[in-house]
Amino acid sequence: MKVSILTLGCRMNQAESSFIEGNLIRNGVTIVDLKDKPDYCIINTCSVTSRSDYQSRQLIRKAIKSASKVIVTGCYTHFNTDNILNINKKITIVHNANKNNIINIIDSNNKTNYLSYSSNSRPYIIIQNGCNNKCSYCIVRIVRGKSRSVPLEKIIEQVKNYSEAGYNEVVLTGIHIGSYGQDFNPKVKLSYLIKSILNKTNIMRIRLSSLEVTEIDDEIIEIMTDNRICNHLHIPLQSGDDNILKLMNRNYNNRIFSSIIEKLINKVSNINIGTDIIIGFPGETNNEFNNTKRVVSDLPINYMHIFPFSPRTGTLAYNLKNQISSIEKKKRSLELQYINTIKKRNYYEKQNGKELKIIIEKKVNDGVYTGTSENFLKIPVLSNNLPLKSCIKVRVIKDEKNKLFGIPINRT
Ligand code: SF4
Repeated sequence: MKVSILTLGCRMNQAESSFIEGNLIRNGVTIVDLKDKPDYCIINTCSVTSRSDYQSRQLIRKAIKSASKVIVTGCYTHFNTDNILNINKKITIVHNANKNNIINIIDSNNKTNYLSYSSNSRPYIIIQNGCNNKCSYCIVRIVRGKSRSVPLEKIIEQVKNYSEAGYNEVVLTGIHIGSYGQDFNPKVKLSYLIKSILNKTNIMRIRLSSLEVTEIDDEIIEIMTDNRICNHLHIPLQSGDDNILKLMNRNYNNRIFSSIIEKLINKVSNINIGTDIIIGFPGETNNEFNNTKRVVSDLPINYMHIFPFSPRTGTLAYNLKNQISSIEKKKRSLELQYINTIKKRNYYEKQNGKELKIIIEKKVNDGVYTGTSENFLKIPVLSNNLPLKSCIKVRVIKDEKNKLFGIPINRT
C-alpha cells in the first residue's frame, strides 16, 4: 500500500504527521510522493491564517487528482466541513482529536501504534495539546481546546524507546508546552518533566519547542545550562509595543520580555533565540510598528518568524476596529525581513571556528551530509560515510563564499 502525507503549519502538526508516518511505515506501508499515485493521501491542514486556509484547500484539490482516497485532518477541518465536502463528497474528514486513529482508517485493518519509530532523525514527542490562554488573535486555542498533558511515564517511555533505538535527540513539543502538568492533580511543572527525563533516560539531548516568556523561570534557565538540553529556544514576542500586546491579550510587556532574554543570554553559552512577530495587528500605526522594529533590533534574538495579522472568525481580534491594509502589512513585513536577514547572518558568522554537535539528517551528495546543531543551525558536514541519526562533533569553518560547513572532529 502506498500513502502520501502532506503537512501544513506548526511543529505540532509536523509532530503528528511524523507519528502517523512512522506508524504506517512500521505497519508495512510505503510513503510516497503525490506524483506516485498513492492509494491514500493524508492532508494535515492548518487554519492559523486565511492564507493557511487557502493553502489547505489547494492541497486538497491537488490530492484529489492523484490519490485514490483522500483523508483530511488538522485545524482546517474544524469549521470547514462543508468547504471540504464541496471540493469532493468522498473525502474522509478526521478532526484533530482522532488524528492518531488515522492508521486504523487506512485499510481498515487494526494496526499497531508504535511509540519509538520516526522517519525523522530528531523525533518529536508530543507532551501536551491545547491551550488555556486567550490570545485575542488565536484560532488554535479554539480548535485544539483546553490544555491536556500526556502522563509523565508515557513520555519517559517514549524517550527511552527512542534512545534505545539509536536516536540522539528528541524535541518536546505541543501547542503550549509551558503549561505542561498544570492539569494534573497534584500539578507539576515543565521543569519537573525535563528533570525526570534527564534523570531517568540516557537520551543525549533534548530540545524544547516554543516556550512563552512568562513560563521561563529561574528553574528553566538553570535547566537550559545542562549540556544535554539544546541551547536553543523559540520565544514568541508578537509585538514590541506594550499597547498592542495588551490588545493581543498577551500577559507580559516588553520590559519583562527583554529581561528574560538577557538572563538567558548571560547564563546559556552561545544560545540561539528565535521569536514570532505578528505585523499589522488592528490599531498598529507606524508608531507601534516602529516600537517593534526598535525592540527586535536591540534584542539579542537571532531569527524571526514574521506573520501578517489575519482576522480569524470566532477570535476576539476579528471584530477589532482599525484593521491595517494588506499593502501596509507587506511593506512592514519586508522591513522586518531585512532586520531578520542581518540578525541571522550575524549569529551564523559568530559560529565560525566553534565546535558544534550535529545530528545527521540527510545525505546531500557524495561526501556531504546535513544535520542540525544543538543551537539549531543546519550545517553541511563533509564526510564520506555518516550514519543518519548519529551525532558528530564538528569544527565549523567559513568558506570563501561565507558559507559554513563542518569538518568532523571525532564521533561522540
Ligand atoms: S499561547 Fe496564545 S497564541 Fe499560543 S496557542 Fe495559546 S492562545 Fe494561541
